[in-house]
Amino acid sequence: MKVLVTGAAGFIGHHVARRLAGTGNCEVLGVDSVAGDGEGGLKRPRLAALEPLPGFRFIQSDFAEAGAFAGIVAHFRPDYVVHLGAQTGVRGSLEDPAPYVRSNLDGFASVLEACRRTPPRHLVYASSSSVYGSGARAPFREDDDTAQPVSFYGATKKCNEVMAQSYARSHGLAVTGLRFFTVYGPWGRPDMAPTLFASAISAGKPIRLFNHGKNRRDFTYVDDIVDGIVKVALYPVESGPAPRLFNLGNSHAVDTHHFVRLLESLLGRKAIVELLPPQPGEMLETCADLTKVKAAYGFSPKVPLEEGLSRFVEWYGTYYGK
Ligand code: NAD
Repeated sequence: MKVLVTGAAGFIGHHVARRLAGTGNCEVLGVDSVAGDGEGGLKRPRLAALEPLPGFRFIQSDFAEAGAFAGIVAHFRPDYVVHLGAQTGVRGSLEDPAPYVRSNLDGFASVLEACRRTPPRHLVYASSSSVYGSGARAPFREDDDTAQPVSFYGATKKCNEVMAQSYARSHGLAVTGLRFFTVYGPWGRPDMAPTLFASAISAGKPIRLFNHGKNRRDFTYVDDIVDGIVKVALYPVESGPAPRLFNLGNSHAVDTHHFVRLLESLLGRKAIVELLPPQPGEMLETCADLTKVKAAYGFSPKVPLEEGLSRFVEWYGTYYGK
């Protein structure tokens, strides 16, 4: 079985590539531009950790380069494509949207077109809870209103869903979008709350809690997300007129105060907390309704936040030597 994973140097892509390449019956080709991996970045270290796996190969490439990416897909002829590469981060999309346009819109179009020319059995791509904007109330269901994402990042993910549906309808592409909810775990992104908070707490520096710490997030452990991606990707699929979209989350939102208290107890240090008003583009609450993905695939998250955070802190301590 051959699987192409985009964003393989990224947080979730690393875990998906590791899970599949470790099975012994799967050839994984990772693609990533590795762009912007400066001092303290995790993209190259994540790739270095994948290198020893016999089932893993890697090509450094920008999937928004349509001709080159189509060539990679035509040459590898994957059975499955797991598209996780994207320009990520909500706040950045408000300040500098250009990389989001390139990776998430041009890049997504290029992935769809490459898959149209060399169709895999199934293309699965990452959408986000950010598509649920001001029109939805938690817990979010797949058929809730997604016409008004509150960030430009969320808008690009919404566009992906519409673009994918157009390729399913017009070209019969077997394609499914998965809306992830705040993923955390070992090798987590340095720009996301777990690592930002853990490093500030360890260094005795203040952490900033927007919306006065009352934002609620459906933190989902990365192994649960990988379970969901693999289950959905490998399941046989017929393309049809209805958009194939599923939430992948934990369905148990907690506020940021609670999250910080758990981290404090695991790190054995008190946090210095700075309370701030809500940030533009930020959602006040995310929580996944998992009824649809449970019924279709039997997906059910297994790792409670306390256990997942403890595994994260163990990795954090070992990796950063703290
Ligand atoms: P990440 O930023 O760690 O990984 C994304 C990877 O994509 C990076 O390694 C980056 O170099 C690569 N990339 C970006 N543009 C590229 C391009 N044009 N060509 C080649 N490579 C490119 O992000 P992540 O947290 O692993 O997220 C994976 C996917 O899941 C993304 O699509 C993201 O939007 C989505 N998602 C993540 C979360 C989360 O909580 N982490 C939540 C919702 C959705």
